[in-house]
Amino acid sequence: MNVAQKLARDVYSQYAGSLPVDPIMVARDMGCEVEPIDPFTSEFDREPNCSGMAYLDRGVKYIKYSASESPLRQRFTVAHELGHHLLGHVKKGMKFRDTPNEFRASVSSREEREANVFAAELLMPSELVMSAYLNSSIRDVEKLASAFGVSKVAMRIKLQELDLITSISIDRSGVRYPYNAG
Ligand SMILES: [Zn+2]
Repeated sequence: MNVAQKLARDVYSQYAGSLPVDPIMVARDMGCEVEPIDPFTSEFDREPNCSGMAYLDRGVKYIKYSASESPLRQRFTVAHELGHHLLGHVKKGMKFRDTPNEFRASVSSREEREANVFAAELLMPSELVMSAYLNSSIRDVEKLASAFGVSKVAMRIKLQELDLITSISIDRSGVRYPYNAG
């Protein structure tokens, strides 16, 4: 288990504890200011593809997310931005601006990969996915995805990572789907 997964597991047990995880509530309980990106600001005009942001302002941890994306994407975005904060990526005076590109499983930046791993583990704790899949015999990806409040694509990636299914999340061109596909 890597650092991002371990952190997500601790956050789940201390702040979430039930499914589906509400990442906005968890982030607020952990002291973050969580707000949708205001579509009427210049910030939004400059970056219409922006899914989310993480930054510090006067010591306050801000998480912004695009409310124009699907609710499942918004959940993943907030969990991803929380990961940036908790993993110590966000330094004073800098801003993480994430577009759907940063949510790809194949993204090259280490920080983006870590934030994705954190988000996936927070929303889909490995142990719970395993036990749901193996014990309750929920083998239907759609049902599992809806129980955990994630997209089917995200759940498929998770099941594949846990070796519960084969690599059907890789399409014919070899491109791995984004975690937050709605
Ligand atoms: Zn990011």
